[in-house]
Amino acid sequence: MANSNVMTKPNIQHSNPLAQSLLKKLDYDQLTNCMRCGFCLPACPTFRETGLEPESPRGRIALMKAVADGLMDPDQAFQDQMNHCLGCRACEPVCPADVKYGQLIEQARDAIEDHAVHSVPVKGLRKLIFSGIFPKRSNMKMLGGSLAFYQQSGLQKLARGTGVMRLFPQHLREMESILPESTSKGVVEQLGTFYPAKGEAIARVALFRGCIMDVMFAGTNVNTVKLLSEAGFEVVIPKAQVCCGALHAHSGEMDQARSLAKTNIDVFKRAGIDYIASNAGGCGALLVEYDHLLHEDESIQTRDDARWFAERVIDVSKLIVDKGRIPAFAENKDTGGNVSITYQDSCHLRNVMKSSAQPRQLMRSVGGTTFIEMKESDRCCGSAGTYNVLQPEMAGQLLEHKMEHATNTKATFMLTSNPGCLLQMKLGIEQHKPPFKMEAQHIVDFLYERIVSDSN
Ligand code: SF4
Ligand code: SF4
Repeated sequence: MANSNVMTKPNIQHSNPLAQSLLKKLDYDQLTNCMRCGFCLPACPTFRETGLEPESPRGRIALMKAVADGLMDPDQAFQDQMNHCLGCRACEPVCPADVKYGQLIEQARDAIEDHAVHSVPVKGLRKLIFSGIFPKRSNMKMLGGSLAFYQQSGLQKLARGTGVMRLFPQHLREMESILPESTSKGVVEQLGTFYPAKGEAIARVALFRGCIMDVMFAGTNVNTVKLLSEAGFEVVIPKAQVCCGALHAHSGEMDQARSLAKTNIDVFKRAGIDYIASNAGGCGALLVEYDHLLHEDESIQTRDDARWFAERVIDVSKLIVDKGRIPAFAENKDTGGNVSITYQDSCHLRNVMKSSAQPRQLMRSVGGTTFIEMKESDRCCGSAGTYNVLQPEMAGQLLEHKMEHATNTKATFMLTSNPGCLLQMKLGIEQHKPPFKMEAQHIVDFLYERIVSDSN
């Protein structure tokens, strides 16, 4: 039931420049669509942790509207509330007025970033991350190669053994402790740009390889291509694709996010494909909204192309279940029989890409395994992009709850569909040390390793 009232933005000239930017960038119709029912409150992890109205979706929307209406200035407390939001978007599916909260929070952060006064080191770091490393594949490869050198040359052992790591803040030390094996050789370097379908091809799919995914989880990208092939898809991996821009969009760098989106759209349009497969919920959620990201672009062609792109983006599990041939999966008998699995939903996969039933269907189809639904598997684990680095306290609280529920399942495998969630689950297992063996894995790796096939 969408609220059809279209409200005109107030014609106010704010003396506070940030308030003026917020008024300009916030979608006022979305702000007024909120009817303050509060249905979203129980779904919101930050509200559930604190019980505070300003830490809820309804509260944050009310704050944004109060600023836009000139009733309050966007002070530090306002900005903190916007930054405390995980961006998990659990508030959207439960909203009867269909308020696009995810868009509002990105618009608010974009305006805040326009007026942010960063120290010189922070400014330098942001430039390095957003303009230097992430948008350029060559730099991502260099990052992967450097991490691989650190891990394989003995430097990592030395850093841990000599106690150098103690010089770093606790949460960075913890993140270092669960760094996956990195590489400069991504999926294209390992498989080339084309992989044929097994049997008759159902459709032609392009893999969105991601940036972090392709240096820290390159093996998962390789397994995704092979799994898609087993499910009947021929796969292309456009070499010129770039970072999706999600990190930029969530950090208030919207212009850069739009520029990356345009490059990707151009690259994938030239690939002649039916679908664009994503194996990372965080990336996929932005890819599937490229049409919104570029909806104000002055070029009609760009807006049409963005729609074309967004309509083709699909989660890998959903693609296999809804469009492909589900391969036969079975637990390897050498592991001693019945293995139990549980699953942590990627918030973006569930709330934005609407893929929650399909991964479960695939997991339940693996012979010799038992799927155990974890309590509150749909609740954010605290990873949320860079949230666990920037807001370690709240992220830690959320992880505590997650591990309590995970431990109660007594599952051998904790599967998920997003690199950030996977790292957070690895961290949770490392910190909480369940009293039985539990391993965190990407669902694609788990499934691929269990295909009953001569080619595996
Ligand atoms: S559920 Fe939707 S309409 Fe209701 S308070 Fe939350 S955001 Fe507003
Ligand atoms: S995105 Fe998540 S954390 Fe933010 S308001 Fe919505 S439910 Fe709460």
